[in-house]
Amino acid sequence: MKFWKKLTHQQLQDRINQALLENVDFSKDTSLGYPASKLDEKVFYSDAPFLKDAPSLKTFVANPNHIGCHTYGTSEKAFKGTQEIEREVLDILATDVFKGEPNAFDGYIAPGGTEANIQAMWIFRNFFQNNLNAKNSEIAILASSDTHYSIPKGSNLLGIDLLSIPVIFENRKIDVTALENIIITAKEAGKKYFIVIANMATTMFGSVDNPTVYTDILEKHDLSYKLHIDGAYGGFVYPFSNRNSTINFSNPKISSITIDAHKMLQAPYGTGVFLCRKGLIENVLTKEAEYVEGMDLTLCGSRSGANAIAVYMILMTYGPYGWIEKIKVLLMRTEWFCNALDKLNIQYFREENMNIVTIRSEYIKPEIAAQFDLVPEQHNDQNKWYKVVIMDHVEIDNLMQLIDALKK
Ligand SMILES: *Cc1c(COP(=O)(O)O)cnc(C)c1O
Repeated sequence: MKFWKKLTHQQLQDRINQALLENVDFSKDTSLGYPASKLDEKVFYSDAPFLKDAPSLKTFVANPNHIGCHTYGTSEKAFKGTQEIEREVLDILATDVFKGEPNAFDGYIAPGGTEANIQAMWIFRNFFQNNLNAKNSEIAILASSDTHYSIPKGSNLLGIDLLSIPVIFENRKIDVTALENIIITAKEAGKKYFIVIANMATTMFGSVDNPTVYTDILEKHDLSYKLHIDGAYGGFVYPFSNRNSTINFSNPKISSITIDAHKMLQAPYGTGVFLCRKGLIENVLTKEAEYVEGMDLTLCGSRSGANAIAVYMILMTYGPYGWIEKIKVLLMRTEWFCNALDKLNIQYFREENMNIVTIRSEYIKPEIAAQFDLVPEQHNDQNKWYKVVIMDHVEIDNLMQLIDALKK
């Protein structure tokens, strides 16, 4: 671990107070030029006594704007204290969690996984246009049919085709023969450049794609590609549960990664993370963003610095070993649940090292699905699966109630 360590609450409080002192203080400093202020005082009491012990809430009330990208060039000076903490969070994730070299990455705390995924596709589309003179019609996105809907959303926004790759019903693995046929047909139809989205845990199944399946076939057919990992769901689980995973920046073919902090990390909603290797993010520079000091290389405009502080607080409160222990507990509960399903001869899918169990719908009566709030794959009569996500609040006692209901 180069950057990630456990800190005491006092150390965290001191660090964040210091950062806030380095930011503009709207209640004290003369600051006339920004359409920004602290949160409205009539509604959000900035002198509430508990705020001094609650650094995340204190930052929320101070209301720093982290507009722009702080790993590249200069940034808005008014919020440099908390921007530095955002950079620290990105360093921890890019190097300590995703095995990259220090200072080799750009990125930002995005409003969520959807934006981070679209940011990746936007960068790569423009990369192919700017460097290889690609036309939109020559670029295609490749992703499995279990991929999150933010990918079709991005395909629609960016005006590039999405080629959906079927998966095997039982094991949710990419159908390699179908993939190769789709690539051959696309090449014949004039597609030359591919944006590959590999899942580090799909939302419905927790299945992890092997990115090599894509890159081997694309290289065999001499095609250009960029590879993005959608770790929105699994980014805070899989690297900790499968310590030998190579789905990270140690694989030179992986250019970018999405991670959601508002799922497994339990940060407030509005907290995703986008990371990419240096030399790529410039492709989405908006030159017209002239009032922002430094450059705007992000999809969103203004965004709160409080989200970055929340991620920092969570990571540093646990420390790397504390986080591994937390994930271990979730996996232990998942194993307990799978063993109980095995005893009942109930069929399900579970990716090893992940905390989602997706059960075949023929074993689940609609009343049970409703009682336990199980999420179906499809909200119609075609549905074939229901999932159980073993989150922090899902304890063995809760799982036992479901098992008892299934026994009846
Ligand atoms: C949740 C999720 C997303 C989208 O994330 P939001 O934070 O809801 O925008 C993208 N990909 C996967 C795999 C997800 O699970």
